[in-house]
Parts: sequence; structure tokens; C-alpha cells
Amino acid sequence: MFKKEKGGWFYMAGLKVEWNDWCPGCGNFGILSAEQQAIQELGLDPKKVVLVSGIGCSGKIPHFIRLPASGVHTLHGRALTFAIGIKLANPSLEVIVNGGDGDQLGIGVGHFVSAGRRNVDLTVIVHNNGVYGLTKGQASPTLKLGVKTKSLPKPNINSDINPIALAISSGYTFVARGYAYDVKHLKEIIKKAIKHKGLAMIDVLQPCPTYNDIHTKEYYDKRVYKLDEDPSWDPIVKKPEEMDDKMSKAILKSMEWGDRIPIGIFYQNELVSTYEQRIAERSPSYLDNPPAHDVIEFEGKPT
Ligand code: SF4
Repeated sequence: MFKKEKGGWFYMAGLKVEWNDWCPGCGNFGILSAEQQAIQELGLDPKKVVLVSGIGCSGKIPHFIRLPASGVHTLHGRALTFAIGIKLANPSLEVIVNGGDGDQLGIGVGHFVSAGRRNVDLTVIVHNNGVYGLTKGQASPTLKLGVKTKSLPKPNINSDINPIALAISSGYTFVARGYAYDVKHLKEIIKKAIKHKGLAMIDVLQPCPTYNDIHTKEYYDKRVYKLDEDPSWDPIVKKPEEMDDKMSKAILKSMEWGDRIPIGIFYQNELVSTYEQRIAERSPSYLDNPPAHDVIEFEGKPT
């Protein structure tokens, strides 16, 4: 009846039909939509955009995006390492990493922390749903101690990681939180993250209706509020002497979780040099003449 093909589509009765195997209501749809719109509204050439993903439901973003962007679906927890390699090999590319909280803050947490010290100019999107959705809903690193989702036989025995506080203390220079069901707001955050010169991390609250019956759309809808609607909130570091104070305030704000959950930009600092600038200080031609990428040199004969 139908023939499934690679690339998110199949033929049924002679018609080309798009498919996507995320569950109905999954927050990943909102993230995909926001990311795609952000790339388009910024006027980026999709051929100069590379989406890099790890393992998990979110890892399918490079397959599902409807733009002729390049994509690499990499190993569990290793998307950031691939992304850094891609960016440093060709600094003219726009590189975006998509991965779940399990992928990036569990097995990949060492790379997540190390990346902050380098401040490579790329964007990291954490699909934060509190569970390992692809493997039937085990507790992931952002699920709080004592919380019992429907997929757990007993309440979570581990404490949680705070992605915002971890990113700021690791050296990320743009740190924000979005909500997958507020696509318009999330899109604007992604645009700012892409435009930011340095390493950007967006923690996206992403309901997983299949395995997490606690952090649902209804749960978040009545709790999230936007930091940018508070005129006293100013997350941008404009002078070096402001850095410690803004970092402390952002970390403190990230601990607000309960009846009210803030979304928006927590911290932004373009005063820190990027890794690419640090390389260019040692090799001045690096940014002007990035290495050739369309030539692959093999050691020995390619087969
Ligand atoms: Fe989305 Fe959860 Fe389904 Fe995965 S298991 S596709 S995260 S709803």
C-alpha cells in the first residue's frame, strides 16, 4: 500500500506524504517549528546551517526539518563534540545542537560543561522533558527528587540538575529558557541565541505527554511567565565589572520553580572572547581563510 522512504516522507497510493513519528502532543513539534521559523526569519542560507543531534526523540530534528539544511545525527551525548568540530573546521557555518536533557545532561554532561570553557560560537537547544522518552520514560537528569511520573515504579531517587545554573557556571555566554508550546516566544529566543557571538544554551520546557504526566502542557501553561515582561530584569552584561552580579542574579532566578516558572533570557555576555577569536589571536589568518571543507583527504586509497 505504501512505500516508506528515507527523509520523512513516503508514497501512498502514488502521493508523497510527510511522516513524523513523534507522539501526538509532543513538545518537540513546537521546538522544530520555532527552530525552522527562526532560521527562515533570520534569512540564513539553509545550506550554511548544520543541525547536529544526539540520541533520543529530539535527535530526529535534522531528519524532520523542512529546510535544505545539513544535519548530523550523532552518538548518545556526543552531539556537542561533533558540533564544535564542525564549527571550528568552518567558522562560517551556523551550527545548532539539538538534544534531550538525558542526552546532554546525563551521558553528555562532561561535554556540556567543557564546551562552556571554550565559548565556541554555536547554539545548543536542550529538549527538557524530565524523562528518557525514546526508551520508555526512565527518570532523566532534570527530574526532581521525589517526583513520580507514570512511567516510574517508585518516586525518583536522584536530585535534579539545573540546566540554567550549570550552563552559567560552566561559562556559556547566552543562557535562556523557552517553552515548547509558546512557539512565538521560543522562536525569538532562538533567533537571539543564533545571533549571539558565543556559546548559547536554551533550556526548553518540553512536555512529553506519553511518559511524563506531571510536567504537562496544563502544568506549564499556568506557571510560566516571561522575564522580558519585567522592566527591572536586565540580563545583559555591558561592562566587565557587572559580570559577577549578573551571573549571581541569573543563577538565583533559575532556582525559581513552583507556582511560577520564568522563561526568557537569564544571562547574556558578549564581552568574553569566543574560541574562534582565541584561535585567530594565535593564527591570524584563521577567520579570514577558514580551511577548505569541500576537499576530503584520505590517508591511503578511498574504497
Ligand atoms: Fe515526544 Fe515523549 Fe513521544 Fe518522545 S516519547 S516523541 S518525547 S511524547
